[in-house]
Amino acid sequence: MNKYKVLITGGAGFIGGNFVQYMVNKYPHYDIVNLDLLSYAGDLTKHIHLETKENYSFVQADIADRETIMSLFEKGKFDFVVHFAAESHVDRSITDPAIFVRTNVMGTQVLLDAAKAFGITKFVHVSTDEVYGELDFDPTVFFTEDTPLQPNSPYSASKASSDLFVRAYYETYGLPMNITRCSNNYGPYHFPEKLIPLTISKVLNDQKVPVYGDGRNIRDWLHVWDHCAAIDLVLHEGVSGEVYNVGGHNERTNLEVVKTIISTLGKSEDLIEFVTDRLGHDKRYAIDPSKLERLGWKPTYTFETGIAQTIKWYTDNAEWWQQILSNEAHK
Ligand code: NAD
Repeated sequence: MNKYKVLITGGAGFIGGNFVQYMVNKYPHYDIVNLDLLSYAGDLTKHIHLETKENYSFVQADIADRETIMSLFEKGKFDFVVHFAAESHVDRSITDPAIFVRTNVMGTQVLLDAAKAFGITKFVHVSTDEVYGELDFDPTVFFTEDTPLQPNSPYSASKASSDLFVRAYYETYGLPMNITRCSNNYGPYHFPEKLIPLTISKVLNDQKVPVYGDGRNIRDWLHVWDHCAAIDLVLHEGVSGEVYNVGGHNERTNLEVVKTIISTLGKSEDLIEFVTDRLGHDKRYAIDPSKLERLGWKPTYTFETGIAQTIKWYTDNAEWWQQILSNEAHK
C-alpha cells in the first residue's frame, strides 16, 4: 500500500475543505497536509473533527511567501500537490484585481518553483471553466479542453495565467502535472457570498434575494463531492500534462436556481429583486466532460438531488454560515 504525502493548498476554503475531508477519510494511510492563509474565505471550524486524526495536519501560510513555501517543501517531501488556494470571487476581482494577480498567479508560480526544486510525483492545478470565457445560448455547444482561453473577468484572467504557468513548467522543466477545469460548484461549506449559499441564507432570513440583470445567465452546476471524486481520479490516474474538464451537464439559469431554492423552502418569489448586472457578466458556461468520463468518472448527483441535499445542509447548519456573516459584518 503506497503511503503518499499530499499537500493540499486552500484546504480551509469551500472546495479545498471538502477535498481535505474526502482525502483524510478515504486514504487513512496517506499523510494530508492542509496549507491555507486563512483569508476572509478560509475557515478551520469545519475541520474540528479532523484534529484528532493522525493523518491530518494544518499549516497557516501564504502561497506567495517564497521563503516559507520553500522551507515547507524542503521539510515536507511531498509526493502530491493539489492546489486550490486562490482568490475566487468574481465580484471582488472587479473591485480589486491586484490581489488576484498576487495570489492566483504569483502564488501558483511560487508553488511550481518549490515543486520543481524538491521534486514531486504530480501537481494538480484546480482551475475553472471561466478561463474559456463565455458561450452563447446554443445548447449544443460546450467547452472542451481544446476551447481557446478567453477569460473575461480579472478572476478568470488570473486563473488562465496560472494555468499557462503550470503548462509551461510541464513543457519547459517536465514537471508532472494535470489541470482540471470545473464548472460552478455548490454544496456544504460554500462561502455565503456566492449565488447558492447567498440565496439560501437570504431566503431563510426572509430577506430580498439579489439577481443580476434579467437572471438569464446560465451556469453548469456540479455538487462539490462529485468534484472531489474527479480530482481524486485525476490525481491518481490522470495522464501527466493533460487538462481535464469537470462538469455534469446541469445547466440552469440563475433565475431557475433562485426559484428552486425559494420553492423548496416554501417562500414567495416576491423575495426576488433584480439588480444592475455584473460588469462583463458571462452569458453561459457549459462543460463537455467526456474526456474525464473516459478516464472513469461520472457524477453521482443530479442538480435536483444535490440542491435538495445542500438546502437541507444549510438549514441544519445555520450556525456555520451565520457566524461567517456576522464576522463579515464587522470587517
Ligand atoms: P474559496 O474562496 O472558498 O477558498 C479559497 C481558499 O484559499 C481559502 O481558504 C483562502 O483562505 C485560501 N487562500 C487565499 N489566498 C491564499 C494565499 N495567498 N495563500 C494560501 N491560501 C490562500 O474558493 P473555492 O470556491 O473553494 O475555490 C477553490 C479553487 O477551485 C479555486 O482555485 C477556484 O478557482 C477553483 N474553482 C472554484 C469553483 C467554484 O465554483 N467555487 C469552480 C471551479 C474551480
